[in-house]
Amino acid sequence: MRTPYICGNWKMNKTIAEGVTFIETAKAALAGISDVEIGIGATFTALKSLADAANGTNIKIGGQDCYWEESGAFTGEIAPSMLKDAGCSFVIIGHSERRQFFGETNETVNKKTKAALAQGLQVIVCVGEMLEERENGTTNKVVEDHVKNGLVSLTAEDMKSIVIAYEPVWAIGTGKTATPAQAQEVHAFIRKTLTDMFGAAVADGVRIQYGGSVKPDNVKELMSQPDVDGALVGGAALKPDSFEALVKFKS
Ligand code: PEP
Repeated sequence: MRTPYICGNWKMNKTIAEGVTFIETAKAALAGISDVEIGIGATFTALKSLADAANGTNIKIGGQDCYWEESGAFTGEIAPSMLKDAGCSFVIIGHSERRQFFGETNETVNKKTKAALAQGLQVIVCVGEMLEERENGTTNKVVEDHVKNGLVSLTAEDMKSIVIAYEPVWAIGTGKTATPAQAQEVHAFIRKTLTDMFGAAVADGVRIQYGGSVKPDNVKELMSQPDVDGALVGGAALKPDSFEALVKFKS
């Protein structure tokens, strides 16, 4: 059985104080939930304070990117061990905004993923097609490329710490959600790709989150799909009551 995983991606939002207030509210609202994994991906400057606020609760804190080297002359970069040091347990890698605006490639996704795994971080690897790619029928090709090249030379053991987020770029922050059937189709394809790479036993254990305008009113239907194991959520994860409703998608 795959434990559902609801993770917020705050992107470049919230001050330290705003983030801590959110965590204080959410930790009371979500106390006692143990059948859903809960995460918040936040900005670097807030991570330590958020991790301190969430310490001992069921809310995990993670970064939204990292570098692949552990130290050195890489001005502006953050090492995976620094995320650990700040109290993070996971990191989001390869988000489409990083691919679109900051030159992220499958090769850098792979390097960052391996470096984060080496520090014992869980890695949420984001994959997904642009609108034009969906329209010209290359969704599976693009997603396969992201999965195969992003995860190249990882081991079965590594895959225990990998979560994949399928995020069609045309659905991110646009209010356009993939239909549950569209999401399921690509999630099943991703699981097949993982089966080809790592075998069925490994592929069956990997959580695949859907991301793209997930909201309290569509999360339940998306989560009812057999290969949708969670959600990576931007906008609807910024308010505690909305985030609470997402985590409590079963009720
Ligand atoms: C995201 O940031 O990964 C995302 C899916 O954003 P939104 O939920 O706002 O579409």
